[in-house]
Amino acid sequence: MNKWPIRVPMQIQETISSWLVRLAIGQGCDPLTLTGTIWADWRAWTFDLDRGIPKERIDILLELSDIRKSALKQSALACEISIISSLPLLKHGIWPWLLGIGIRNRRYRGGLQYCPLCFSSDTQPYFRRQWRFAWATNCEKHNVLLLDRCMQCASPVEPHRLSVLHVKQLSFCATCGIDLRKCVPQPNLSGALRFQECARNFINLKQGEIWGRSIDIREWFDACRQFINMIRRVVCQPESKLGRMFTDIGVPFHKIEPEQLNLRLELLSVGCREQLFDCLNTLMSIHINDISNILKYYSITKNSFWSNNYENPSPLHFLNSALSIQNRRYKSRTNRTYGVPKSKIAVLKAWTRLKRRGIVD
Ligand SMILES: [Zn+2]
Ligand SMILES: [Zn+2]
Repeated sequence: MNKWPIRVPMQIQETISSWLVRLAIGQGCDPLTLTGTIWADWRAWTFDLDRGIPKERIDILLELSDIRKSALKQSALACEISIISSLPLLKHGIWPWLLGIGIRNRRYRGGLQYCPLCFSSDTQPYFRRQWRFAWATNCEKHNVLLLDRCMQCASPVEPHRLSVLHVKQLSFCATCGIDLRKCVPQPNLSGALRFQECARNFINLKQGEIWGRSIDIREWFDACRQFINMIRRVVCQPESKLGRMFTDIGVPFHKIEPEQLNLRLELLSVGCREQLFDCLNTLMSIHINDISNILKYYSITKNSFWSNNYENPSPLHFLNSALSIQNRRYKSRTNRTYGVPKSKIAVLKAWTRLKRRGIVD
């Protein structure tokens, strides 16, 4: 087979699927036609191509296009996810912290996010790699919420279904045909943006930090997931001790509807993830000098703080002495006072510090 006549260089930080769609439009054919020509025996769009093109499928793509093997490898999202995941990345199934696209017969249920302002400022609109991560809910350049649906028809974003007869670039909704650059940017929550910036910085450093303690990057992401699970539990049980603690320290969990949380993190909408990360940011912004006193004051138990099967990493072991152990069999009224500090002064001090730092109103 001859090389394709039109060169389409990959943009900085572009996803593989975005480049393939632009490559197809550049040659004047539909994305489905292009991939059918490259891989006649493989239904490419029934896979999440952004994770990485399988080794056995790469050579033919290199033969037909001008892309370098190293560029394809670097653009695979498997690079970042393997840095932060403590679990092996399975061929099928959802990867931790990577938005699931929920493929069903080449149709997506979600998973692709975009910023209409980035699309508008691009000479050739394209999807960024960072928009695919579950921790990303903001465009850091334009300081707006990312969108994960067409604002006219509410369909998920599916550029691989575009027809070259109707569009000359990928910033269009494949369902209703509107130009996604016209979607109105939505305001964001600053706490979620701060969490996103932390995640990005920590990945670059390959090292995280929680309550002043350095922590391995995989353990940081695992701990964040634990805290998100805790926030989810509190949303369903707002009257629990943790719920009271969250309310008092200003974790804005009341804004989340329990029914929004029926899916795992990687399948939740951008708006729902943003609210969870806003809560997470408040929780993680508690000063290291305060966290133990706060946990003691509210008599938070180990069982309610950590999930049963989670082994909290050594940098967080200092919390263990602040968490009470609930004896489920012999629970009595007297247990309620277990772990309460001698006075309220420490807690009031902590409260003042939180106020001063603008974490609570
Ligand atoms: Zn943007
Ligand atoms: Zn639409």
